[in-house]
Amino acid sequence: MSVQDNISRIHERMAAACMRAGRDPGSVRLVAVSKKHQPESIMEAVAAGQTVFGESRVQEAVAKIPRCPGGLSWHMIGHLQSNKVRQVVQYFDMIHSIDSLRLLEAVNQAAEQAGRTLKVMLEVNVSGESVKFGLKPEDAPSVLEASNRLMNIELTGLMTMPPMTALAEGARPHFRRLRELRDAWRAATGIPLEELSMGMSHDFEVAIEEGATWIRVGTDIFGERA
Ligand SMILES: *Cc1c(COP(=O)(O)O)cnc(C)c1O
Repeated sequence: MSVQDNISRIHERMAAACMRAGRDPGSVRLVAVSKKHQPESIMEAVAAGQTVFGESRVQEAVAKIPRCPGGLSWHMIGHLQSNKVRQVVQYFDMIHSIDSLRLLEAVNQAAEQAGRTLKVMLEVNVSGESVKFGLKPEDAPSVLEASNRLMNIELTGLMTMPPMTALAEGARPHFRRLRELRDAWRAATGIPLEELSMGMSHDFEVAIEEGATWIRVGTDIFGERA
């Protein structure tokens, strides 16, 4: 199967999941996760109409992005260190993986220096010990409150990475929990938090049924990573 065929198949599966959940298919968007894949593969996805790409390592991304067509939108989806934010602000339009107030403040400052505003999401660890990154749910409200005074970031929503489970259904409680936390925090802070970034190759249909607005799919588009 070609990258183009894979993308059409994913759009069909996205539409079917939206149908099952009674959702507008336009309410879910696809991030094509291109980490560890070359610009040639990215070009194939672009030919299929894909414009949003996700990368998880800054060093790899800044080497790759200049070798790709202009006009694409790059999303940072991986764990991020404060000393890399200047590059991230330069190359990326959205960060899904903000996991501390310190990092959020660093992004805000770098965005201010670059004279731009960056869309960000908070990565929340909804499943506890088994997952390495993400804010603990009890720590998120203070970050949300603090975000109100940061003028060069727009906090658009929440992201989560559930622990790997054999069956996609195993992720459902974690996706549902993220949506419930979003609803509670929206009510408490007045921040709309419209976006929910959740679901990967393995479980994106379940994530859509639970309210995902961004799914992040790598393997099912580009094949296995080396
Ligand atoms: C690699 C990665 C993905 C894509 O995973 P696949 O299983 O290849 O679809 C999604 N989200 C994050 C944060 C990733 O690091």
